[in-house]
Amino acid sequence: MQVLNLKPVPLGGHILPELPYAYNALEPVIDERTLCLHHDKHHKKYVDELNKAEIAAEKMRESKDYDAINLIERELAYNGSGHILHSIYWTIMTSPDTGGTPGQITSALISSYFGSIDACKAQFISAASSIFGSGWAILAYNPYFKRLEILQASNHENLTQWGVIPILVCDVWEHAYYLKYQNNRADYINAWWQHLINWAEVERRLIYAVQARVEL
Ligand code: MN
Repeated sequence: MQVLNLKPVPLGGHILPELPYAYNALEPVIDERTLCLHHDKHHKKYVDELNKAEIAAEKMRESKDYDAINLIERELAYNGSGHILHSIYWTIMTSPDTGGTPGQITSALISSYFGSIDACKAQFISAASSIFGSGWAILAYNPYFKRLEILQASNHENLTQWGVIPILVCDVWEHAYYLKYQNNRADYINAWWQHLINWAEVERRLIYAVQARVEL
């Protein structure tokens, strides 16, 4: 059946994606050292831990020993979400001031829900700035509701709305900005929105997302 030709990621076979640019490509908004540590150490750890959790879950299924099931499911949620969000984060950034402006579909869906790009930006930046502790600001498309929404993820996996597809994500864990911005999270977020967004990639992701076939 054609519909089942899914090519799933093999169990425990997640791979750290390469950055689509050099470590210094986002300077001066995101410094080389931060980007290197963030990708090579932090993202890699989420991938490694996700793989480990999947293999542990498989062993559990084989032996029907579900004693540690709570721990494993939490690992899958935390590390799986971390892997997904970081993979998107790298792609929706590009060298400062080369990312263009919001595409046609992006502009249309943002305007119809938020009123304007500026209103969306204000809400997104406010959401990102005010996340309690570690987390993400996420502009997502909800295929059940057929529209965009802005969410604040706590850690990687909490405060989501089931089924949403992240389109534009901003990592506001301290590891994303602390070396350059220290405690000035808002400065990082404003510079990030102003200079780094790759709007063509946001548009590409949104065009795929609106084609997702789910319904309530
Ligand atoms: Mn991160």
